Amino acid sequence: MTVSLGMPAAPPEVLAPRRPTRTIKVGSVEVGGNAPISVQSMTTTLTADVNATLQQIAELTAAGCDIVRVACPSQDDADALPEIAKHSQIPVIADIHFQPKYVFAAIDAGCAAVRVNPGNIRKFDDQVGEIAKRAKAAGVSLRIGVNAGSLDKRLLEKYGKATPEALVESAVWEASLFEEHDFHDFKISVKHNDPVIMVKAYEMLAERGDWPLHLGVTEAGPAFQGTIKSATAFGALLSKGIGDTIRVSLSAPPVEEVKVGLQILQSLNLRQRKLEIVSCPSCGRAQVDVYTLAEQVTQGLEGLTVPLRVAVMGCVVNGPGEAREADLGVASGNGKGQIFVKGEVIKTVPESAIVETLIEEAMRIAEEMGEPIDEASAGTPTVSVG
Ligand code: SF4
Repeated sequence: MTVSLGMPAAPPEVLAPRRPTRTIKVGSVEVGGNAPISVQSMTTTLTADVNATLQQIAELTAAGCDIVRVACPSQDDADALPEIAKHSQIPVIADIHFQPKYVFAAIDAGCAAVRVNPGNIRKFDDQVGEIAKRAKAAGVSLRIGVNAGSLDKRLLEKYGKATPEALVESAVWEASLFEEHDFHDFKISVKHNDPVIMVKAYEMLAERGDWPLHLGVTEAGPAFQGTIKSATAFGALLSKGIGDTIRVSLSAPPVEEVKVGLQILQSLNLRQRKLEIVSCPSCGRAQVDVYTLAEQVTQGLEGLTVPLRVAVMGCVVNGPGEAREADLGVASGNGKGQIFVKGEVIKTVPESAIVETLIEEAMRIAEEMGEPIDEASAGTPTVSVG
């Protein structure tokens, strides 16, 4: 049975228009203005280990990362920057703390941008003129990265702790110094580990100028906690149009940060949705193990790039209705699965064939939507049902 898939008529709805900002360039990636909100991560390898760092950058690139940041705490790391910047597939930002000489090394190394932390770079304010001059000449943009954990001592004394006001005052002061030197190619971050303080700081900062903003909850924690903190804080800001580039900080492999960041943007329609598994939470009516089914379908379809919605429903009470909005779905019951395409039942299969059938149908629909399907693997899913 052939069912028309239709095409989306209008762009998906978003919660608020983007806050107008100036646009800057981080190498080949634009940040701010109408540019798509980019996803960043940071390598965890020793930067001086060029091969390991480039390997991790390649993994991040494959996961969908737009911009990568590398730490540069020593001369060995600074010496590695030219090779890394040259061979990375995505723009590289050098992350500089304490030593101003590494800011200049990163600019000379061909990094796309440099993150400076004005709170802990020695005599930073005295160096702003020279940094601005060198960055401008090299076409390198900057991030003024204010962080609660390393706030300028003067502001800590004034406010007692890293309040939203203190973070914003630090950022606005440093921004004014760069602007006095006619340097405008920078974005700003005001990170805190408390999402409430972080959100307030970014809201205040957004009122003070048209700088593109880099969102981040610093030291957000292990994957579960960090994901929730970041999703909550970014959601609060992005739903008001605030935020031009994001980095989810997790105590987990950096690829996980990218996956979470992309999912946050996709959830808010700020990135085109890709594969989306709409699975029911299961309840007393479920006649099939929904969790396992959803997991197996997710694994079987990993890597699809077209915006395919697959509904996995535990029973036939609400299943057909809930599956109707999806491209493809299953409602299970009585040892069988009704397979739906755009809400219409195309076949009923035994429970043991649900996963295999869903994957076959998903591949067929994905191909019609333009997904390049590897002939060797299409139609022969490796998932098995117990
Ligand atoms: S689809 Fe059925 S099993 Fe799943 S939550 Fe709804 S009623 Fe419960």
